[in-house]
Amino acid sequence: MHKGSLSRFLNSPEGYRGRLAPSPTGLLHVGHARTFWIAAQRAREHRGMLILRNEDLDPQRSRAEFARAMVEDLRWLGIQWSEGPDCGGACGPYAQSERRAHYLEAWRRLREGGFIYPCVCSRKDLAQAASAPNEGDADDEPVYPGTCRGRAAGAIAGPAGANWRFRVPDGEAIEFTDLNLGAQRYVAGRDFGDFLVWRRDDVSAYQLAVVVDDAAMRITEVVRGADLLKSTVRQLLLTRALGLAAPDYFHCELVRDAAGVRLAKRHDALSVRHLRESGMAPEKVLAMAGWP
Ligand code: GLU
Repeated sequence: MHKGSLSRFLNSPEGYRGRLAPSPTGLLHVGHARTFWIAAQRAREHRGMLILRNEDLDPQRSRAEFARAMVEDLRWLGIQWSEGPDCGGACGPYAQSERRAHYLEAWRRLREGGFIYPCVCSRKDLAQAASAPNEGDADDEPVYPGTCRGRAAGAIAGPAGANWRFRVPDGEAIEFTDLNLGAQRYVAGRDFGDFLVWRRDDVSAYQLAVVVDDAAMRITEVVRGADLLKSTVRQLLLTRALGLAAPDYFHCELVRDAAGVRLAKRHDALSVRHLRESGMAPEKVLAMAGWP
């Protein structure tokens, strides 16, 4: 057995716990269908549990109608879960918009530990700094140049009003063994820089929310798309800073369209909803995504 898995099973006597974590910012497409189908299959193979988490973290981009659609589309595909916003469970609430207190507590711990700092750079500053290392890497943000690194946090009660960044250990290689894609290695400060944990508009950033939720929901294995590989090393740094146990990771190859472009929610014609309404059977949708 993979070394990580063993330690995780010891940490989680109830066994395998996987999760489906869609963001309700659009309709699910065949790429999501494939990833979620693999997640469901791995949970089944391990005789484990599957948790649905509504990642409606971003109030500007999340829509209740997309949250409803994703539950319906996942069910239609034949994917089943035993904890989630629709059915409850011991680790709820299962919508990120209702979990702010958990994120705030983690922000406090990171701040007390000296891991984060407030950043007042504007979008324009950052765009101008968007030079070299990650140019052309469409899946990722540019390395933050460190302008606000020395900024003191002061005697403030909460995170509102600034972007808060995690100070990455420059030069350290962050490594993990992906259960699908094998050995991964990214160097902090070179492949990725100080990243956001809290947004100026007073919402937890994705990286922090996912780490907090995966730990609180006792997730043992994260199955998701390979576009998030570099997020994983950021999340491993947060996991370490917060003294949490890291889950195992299984990143799925991305589904591309006929032109080789990675599917995104803007590919409406390839949305599960559209294909379903055009009369296609669930097995056909999964076959379109290259599954099995
Ligand atoms: N909610 C994210 C998305 O829909 C996925 C997050 C994750 O799996 O960690 O892209």
